[in-house]
Amino acid sequence: MSLLVVGSVAFDAIQTPFHEAERVLGGAATYFSVAASHFAKVSLVGVVGDDFTAKDAAIFKGRKIDVRGLERAAGKTFFWAGRYSADMNDRTTLTTELNVFAAFNPKLPREYTGLSYLFLANIDPALQLSVLTQMNKRPRIVALDTMNYWIERTPEQLKEILKHVDILMINDTETRQLSSEHNLLRAARAIFKLGPHTLIIKRGEYGAMMVHKNSVAIVPAFPLEEVQDPTGAGDSFAGGFMGHLARAGRLNEAELRRAMVYGSVMGSFTVERFGLERLARVKPAEIKARARHFTRLTRFNL
Ligand code: AMP
Repeated sequence: MSLLVVGSVAFDAIQTPFHEAERVLGGAATYFSVAASHFAKVSLVGVVGDDFTAKDAAIFKGRKIDVRGLERAAGKTFFWAGRYSADMNDRTTLTTELNVFAAFNPKLPREYTGLSYLFLANIDPALQLSVLTQMNKRPRIVALDTMNYWIERTPEQLKEILKHVDILMINDTETRQLSSEHNLLRAARAIFKLGPHTLIIKRGEYGAMMVHKNSVAIVPAFPLEEVQDPTGAGDSFAGGFMGHLARAGRLNEAELRRAMVYGSVMGSFTVERFGLERLARVKPAEIKARARHFTRLTRFNL
């Protein structure tokens, strides 16, 4: 089964307490695609500028990623700069330059319009809606990620697209901001009224929580001795999660819980090194081994 993703392909400037980089390849759709391609074929919709070289595009090569929907436009590629706090749990956005995304009007290749699993990665909700409306049938699952930038600037467009979303995947701060509720379970109830029937709350080093109408599931973050750069962890989580669902082809509680584990596994690889360094090199056997390790991490008898 094939997955469709729309989202940012970007250059990032990242400051952590240990290291700084002025310009590394990033973007929500980039992390998502690389992570998800270990599980299923991914078709990518986005735009890059004329500063995006063949060397940058090599990240998509040799993987199950179809980039026919990645347009090239005159101008600069999306640019984001962020700084992490000393404990890496908080992040401040320093700069967001939409650049070629500001005027982007995606035109879906015809082969993309019948895909069953759609991930609307973090980008302008108007673009997310444009992709959804170009599908020739309603995908089996529509999942969406967003962030404070869009919650604050485009709340009406975000509410519009949320009406069509099954699974919302955001972090705890965004959950509180979007719902105006501090308690995450109450926040989930407020969010269900906006459209999604499932909420996945990404909580960094504390793992992730999935809330449906009637149940809650929790997965830890993989314990690591060294975290170098949390950028892209959420998108890699989404890639493992959606990738597993597309591969499984079934949608039930057990598969959703497994998808949470694969999400957490992919996020854990990303944070181990800077930018895409580790995720780009991860081997299928390492993914399997880490997923198996999760069963040991969480097993208990009563
Ligand atoms: P994450 O750490 O998973 O939340 O995502 C980090 C990625 O999101 C970075 O590589 C950025 O390029 C990208 N990003 C940051 N801000 C935005 C935004 N406003 N819209 C789209 N993508 C963004």
